[in-house]
Amino acid sequence: MTIRLYNTLTRKLEEFTPLEPGKMGFYTCGPTVYWDAHIGNMRTMVNSDIIKRVFTENGYEVNHVMNFTDVGHLTSDGDTGDDKMEKGAARENLSVWDVAQKYIDGFLCDMDLLNNIRPTHMPRATDHISEQIAQVQHLEKLGYTYEIPGDGIYYDTSKFANYGVLGGQKLSELRGGARIDDSGKRNSTDFALWKYSPKDTKRQMEWDSPWGVGFPGWHIECSAMSMKYLGQHFDLHVGGQEHAKVHHSNEIAQSEPIVGAPWVSYWMHFEWLLLKDGKMSKSVGTAYTVRNLVERGYDPMAYRYLLLQSHYRQPLEFSFESLDAAANGYKNIVRKIADLINTEKTANVDLERYNAWHDKILAVVSDNFKTAEALVWVQDLLKDSVTNPETKIQLFEFVDRLLGLQFIDRAKKLVALEQVSAPAEIVALAERRVTAKANRDWATADALRAEIESAGWTVLDGKDGYKIVKRA
Ligand code: AMP
Ligand code: ZN
Repeated sequence: MTIRLYNTLTRKLEEFTPLEPGKMGFYTCGPTVYWDAHIGNMRTMVNSDIIKRVFTENGYEVNHVMNFTDVGHLTSDGDTGDDKMEKGAARENLSVWDVAQKYIDGFLCDMDLLNNIRPTHMPRATDHISEQIAQVQHLEKLGYTYEIPGDGIYYDTSKFANYGVLGGQKLSELRGGARIDDSGKRNSTDFALWKYSPKDTKRQMEWDSPWGVGFPGWHIECSAMSMKYLGQHFDLHVGGQEHAKVHHSNEIAQSEPIVGAPWVSYWMHFEWLLLKDGKMSKSVGTAYTVRNLVERGYDPMAYRYLLLQSHYRQPLEFSFESLDAAANGYKNIVRKIADLINTEKTANVDLERYNAWHDKILAVVSDNFKTAEALVWVQDLLKDSVTNPETKIQLFEFVDRLLGLQFIDRAKKLVALEQVSAPAEIVALAERRVTAKANRDWATADALRAEIESAGWTVLDGKDGYKIVKRA
């Protein structure tokens, strides 16, 4: 089936043509692991996951790479400000290495809760310092770099004719209003490739290099790691919308002199998840994590369902009211699938109906990832009186592979739950235990099990959920 996507580079909807038939390689700019990734960051991860699933269902072998930014970079695109990792370490009284590990573990927990398939490769910037140094040396040899004494090695953006094309700005516009400060940069758009460690303080993360002890600039890690795991040229590069203007423009400027243009065939940028008053903020306590949603009693699939009801190119305003509505919508679908599972099977899968629905749903998401429209088809499929229950269940298996919404899993759990004759208060305890386990809160899960057992019941965990049985 044809796959179309909106390419930020050309500002057009384009038909996808792979570099190598049957294969698709793509790179997602991953999290900076100095703090928890919030549900906005996770919107970007769900969008990446959908891309992977759509290509896979279209028969492609997908190689997905997502990095962990675990080097302490400076907080702004302009290479100034605080070092996020060192700040995180000071805040938590941990080493920077422990901070990175802690937040990588938390991130992966949230990825699993959201049923995002883990990327094929998840390289860490600190494991790829030599590859980054090699690229900076290459750029130096080609004449793209200069030194700011006492500061570091910089990329001279005036040497790269197409600088800023991805962000949709001409070089003159980019530089027009910008005042050259006293940083020593030749152009306001220039950026650090290698920073020297400060003379007066010892950094926890620093490495030797041909230019002196220090640490890589932020942008070079994505050029180095994407090429290592995807080859010098690859199909698609994605990330949050804010990256087009600076981070990805800088990645292109670094990479194309080394490998030739075009480095990457397609670029996609995802709009943000926002709050009514703007950005999610850690300091105000509105940067919720997926684990926070679980603590509040939400199924992570309700959040995924909420996300997929919008298009990735539209900003999405988050509120608990909209999450409640999504949770209800999701539960209604699960209820209907549970009813299908409970119906006595009388017929075989109707292949003609199966193929018609399958192709209709796959076509709509293959056309620039219109997940919201696919979910409208899903509702119509449930209402379709001509398609038999067997066929519908098979189609929901396909919808789950495509959208990762775990409809069948939740429906089977519901069926299993309803077969249990335990009193409601025991079922409520078992449900709280499921939430505690999803949240890796083992102490609460164990306490709830003990409470259930002291009331004369036992929970048995199985592949399709749990069963409550009377204790012998
Ligand atoms: P960061 O940890 O800030 O580097 O972000 C990790 C990824 O999440 C990047 O691809 C960002 O573009 C993306 N991102 C950051 N904030 C949001 C948001 N509010 N909504 C969606 N994506 C975001
Ligand atoms: Zn990146």
